[in-house]
Amino acid sequence: MPLFRWFVLACTVCVLSAGFALAQQVCKACDDTGLVACPVCAKQRCTNQRELTFCSLARCKSCGGTQRSECKCSVAPKEDLAAKLAALDAWRTKFPAEVAEFMGREVAVAEAPHFVLVWDVPKVDHKRGATLHAALHLYLDRLEEFHARFAADVGANDKDFSAKTVAMVWAREADQEKASPKWTLQPSNTESKLMGRAPVFSVFYDKGHMHEEYELHQALVHQATHCLLSNVWNGVWSGNIKGGWVDEGLAHWYENALFDGVRHYCYVEADTLVDFKFGKWEATVRRALDAGKLPSIFAFTSLNTTEMTPEQRMFAWALVDFCLRGPTPRYGAFAKAAKEKRPFGEAVQAISGSSALEFERAWHEWLAANYSSEPKAR
Ligand SMILES: [Zn+2]
Ligand SMILES: [Zn+2]
Ligand SMILES: [Zn+2]
Ligand SMILES: [Zn+2]
Repeated sequence: MPLFRWFVLACTVCVLSAGFALAQQVCKACDDTGLVACPVCAKQRCTNQRELTFCSLARCKSCGGTQRSECKCSVAPKEDLAAKLAALDAWRTKFPAEVAEFMGREVAVAEAPHFVLVWDVPKVDHKRGATLHAALHLYLDRLEEFHARFAADVGANDKDFSAKTVAMVWAREADQEKASPKWTLQPSNTESKLMGRAPVFSVFYDKGHMHEEYELHQALVHQATHCLLSNVWNGVWSGNIKGGWVDEGLAHWYENALFDGVRHYCYVEADTLVDFKFGKWEATVRRALDAGKLPSIFAFTSLNTTEMTPEQRMFAWALVDFCLRGPTPRYGAFAKAAKEKRPFGEAVQAISGSSALEFERAWHEWLAANYSSEPKAR
């Protein structure tokens, strides 16, 4: 190759690599987003680890609560801070203002893609819960995490839900008594919920009853299960149209799967739930199977939630377990059928293509292969 051509080639490479280097150059302060964290409110920043839409505790005279400011560099901001601030101000005048007005004082509210959390507990015993603000974000993150799990398990996506679920957590019994009839339409001094198209639940964090911090988390998971399940697809709660097994069975399934046992029974006195620790249900169901004492599948699949005995709830849990973890995951299809008021036998035929008796046999075989008669230690 003639020398001249070498020269041209070398120059081209130089120019290209210089251009590439230029394109690679980033503003270290803002990572080329044009936005940096607001330095004024650095110490009170929201500690969410999952997506957050709004937080009523994000207030700062400098940034107005957006918690960001424009970088000094020349990069155009990737997000419109003025629009974000206007949206935050508008949001404050709606639900947070309604709560403050009714309760007679400001109460912290934060919103994420699937939940709105009203939080009044000064702190919780968790490394991310040392202040009211931090605890609020810990619990909103947990609710969002649960939503993702729930949606995957039932086979739903965002457009299958008609509204965000509102969750309220109170540190004082009097506040639960005041808030529950207003937002859940059900007076209660413990836990209450409104299911359907715009679900709400309200919980009093009674430390005399919930000794460990995770018990509050568990209570929220139980109530969130009912709310999400009632809302998904059609806004119909299956618990009072003979579909209690998919409703309470699933709430207990999450208690067993995510915590160390079942602590919550809806509408049943609290003292009937002592003694149900993790692993016991599995062993109890297995022993009933071995002794030929499992009830007919029809005995507990056409009852309302309130009609189910503690034992029937346990068998409902075991059937939900089969529908979620068995060879063909089909819990979502059964939940949908129950919410559409389809009789259980008809639903089995449509979903599994077999008779209820064949389905029951397959359930028994799965229980025999997967459940141990010895309680698990955890
Ligand atoms: Zn910058
Ligand atoms: Zn700020
Ligand atoms: Zn916050
Ligand atoms: Zn329940």
